[in-house]
Amino acid sequence: MTRAVDVVVIGGGQAGLAAGYHLRRQNLDFVILDAQPTPGGAWQRTWDSLRLFSPAAYSSLPGWLMPVQNGTEYPDADHVVQYLSAYEERYALPVQRPVRARAVHRDGERLRVETDRGAWSARAVVSATGTWWRPFLPAVPGRETFAGRQLHTVQYRGPREFAGQRVIVVGGGNSGAQIAADLAPHTNLTWVTRRPARFLADDIDGRALFDAATAHRQALDQGRADTGGVASLGDIVAVPPVRAARDAGLLNARPMFERLVADGVRWNDGTTAPADAVIWCTGFRPALSHLAPLGLRGPRGHIATRGTQAVDDPRVHLLGYGDWTGPASATLIGVGRPAREAAADIARLLLQ
Ligand code: FAD
Repeated sequence: MTRAVDVVVIGGGQAGLAAGYHLRRQNLDFVILDAQPTPGGAWQRTWDSLRLFSPAAYSSLPGWLMPVQNGTEYPDADHVVQYLSAYEERYALPVQRPVRARAVHRDGERLRVETDRGAWSARAVVSATGTWWRPFLPAVPGRETFAGRQLHTVQYRGPREFAGQRVIVVGGGNSGAQIAADLAPHTNLTWVTRRPARFLADDIDGRALFDAATAHRQALDQGRADTGGVASLGDIVAVPPVRAARDAGLLNARPMFERLVADGVRWNDGTTAPADAVIWCTGFRPALSHLAPLGLRGPRGHIATRGTQAVDDPRVHLLGYGDWTGPASATLIGVGRPAREAAADIARLLLQ
């Protein structure tokens, strides 16, 4: 059986919910399909000590401010999961789960979304599947020869299982710095970054990042000089645990090693560090395999977008993956605006 709606939103994390909020305001008939059995998207999977890099009010989806979490200015991931669950209920968003979209095909005037629970037919599709589900590991020589444990950010839960071990954390972004700070007091830690660690000033948090991303996008859209965006400020938000570890002298990054060896890592000057575990905090890629049948990827593997709209098929929108789908669109506060614009574009398209 194929069910017909105006719009299928694929993914029920924050981006999918923000899309739902604005599709409802456009009076469109839509469904949100989410592969997770429970609400909260990627926030259900993060490590225990993760804290947002902005206060609650600056981590909110459209329509309803995130409530303050008692006892802390920077909420934890459980608080975000509770907020997203309550958000779904508050706006009675039609989320179906667990439903995994496998492929989106052109079907004449419509799009056909094939899932593990049957098919949906839609006049437009919003892809909001996030990046957490496609961890990226760099091609570093010797990875297969290392006898210890290797894991990615997505598998890290907390320091307990590494207590007393020699651990190498790779990555100079927020995940790398936060996980290094989490492990430093409990392990023999080596933190490795490709370029020297760049901490943002201590008084800068997610609010300033959002402003910088917005100013950057506006400058590019208006043909003005590139402001450098968020990257011009630094790579690491000095959230309180990171600041504490840095100030205690526990976060001293070494340059990237040349290769892994059986019992650790080796730098190109011949020095080595033995290791029981290597944690790759080396980022993510957008989870877009369900769009493959549409052939939207250009020669360099990138899907060209205008705002959130796929240039090669205006019925398809990509939401929440990063600055290329809207300034700061991969953040709670940043996804609201591109979601609003996507819903307005879709409403216009369907009226034609
Ligand atoms: P997700 O939360 O990943 O949701 C996507 C949903 O789609 C998931 O439920 C997934 O199961 C589902 N899905 C995937 N594929 C399919 C499919 N084929 N069919 C159906 N469903 C599918 N942002 C902030 O605003 N503040 C912060 O402090 C902050 N800290 C961060 C810290 C870390 C370590 C990371 C990694 C990110 C952080 N972010 C922060 C960024 C951002 O808010 C998250 O990455 C956010 O989870 C992205 O939301 P999303 O809805 O795009 O994707």
